[in-house]
This record gives sequence, C-alpha cells and structure tokens, in this order.
Amino acid sequence: MPRHCEAPGCGLATRAGKPFCSEHVERHPYIARLVEQLAAREEEERLVRERGVAAVASDGLTAAEILAFLRVHGDRSVPRLARDLNMDLETLELYVDALVARGLLAERRRRRRARIVGLPEEARGPRRRRARRSTPDPEREPKAAAG
Ligand SMILES: [Zn+2]
Repeated sequence: MPRHCEAPGCGLATRAGKPFCSEHVERHPYIARLVEQLAAREEEERLVRERGVAAVASDGLTAAEILAFLRVHGDRSVPRLARDLNMDLETLELYVDALVARGLLAERRRRRRARIVGLPEEARGPRRRRARRSTPDPEREPKAAAG
C-alpha cells in the first residue's frame, strides 16, 4: 500500500513506506533530532573556540564522541584523532585540554610535538568487559568451535 508524505499540503507518494518524501524528510522525528544535535554541537564548538576549555561540556556530544572513539580504537595522537573525527585540530586540542584536566582522558606521552591520549586506565578495563558481555559482536568474537 503506497504511503503519502505527512507534511501538510504535500501528499506525495513516499518510498519504502516512509512517512515523509525526500523533500520533507527533515520532519521525521529521528532526522529532526539529528539536525538539532548537529546544531547544538556546532554551537558548542563555536563557544569552545571563542571562550576556551571552560565552554567544553563533559557530557556533550563532542566529548562523548571523542571518548567513545578512543574506547573503541585505543590511544591516538591528537592530530590523528582530529582527522579521524573530522574535527578542527585547534578546537580538538581545547577539548583534550578540558577532558584531561577533568580526568576523563589521560595523556600518555608525546610523540614529537603531538600528545598521545586515551582513556584513563580505570575507565578502560571494566567498561570494556561490561560492553563485551552486553553486546556480543559475532564479527569480533568468533564462536568457539563446537565439540
Ligand atoms: Zn513531502
């Protein structure tokens, strides 16, 4: 049964049973939330560039992304992390300063002028084990051979 766009006055048939046509896809609550989050994130990063480390929200999206990336991929130099996260290096340096000062990130050592950062030891072990138990990943943890 074809579905029609729910945007007022539109009524175009949509693809794959979606509630909105491609023109109005931003009305979808999921997309609207993403757009909102992106805007909040850009606004926070702008404030960090303007005001420095004090504007870094430890529980904000950018901090969460930095910490999640390092949890999954392990230690990184800050310039490489900037490339991996597609972030401006100077802005990322401010986030790293703030997160290191608050004990959420650890600075391991320096390679030439670049800092190598990762999760603090106490944040790594237990969290990893817990994550593994709750979300087994068949790609990474092949089943033990039967018998
Ligand atoms: Zn539409």
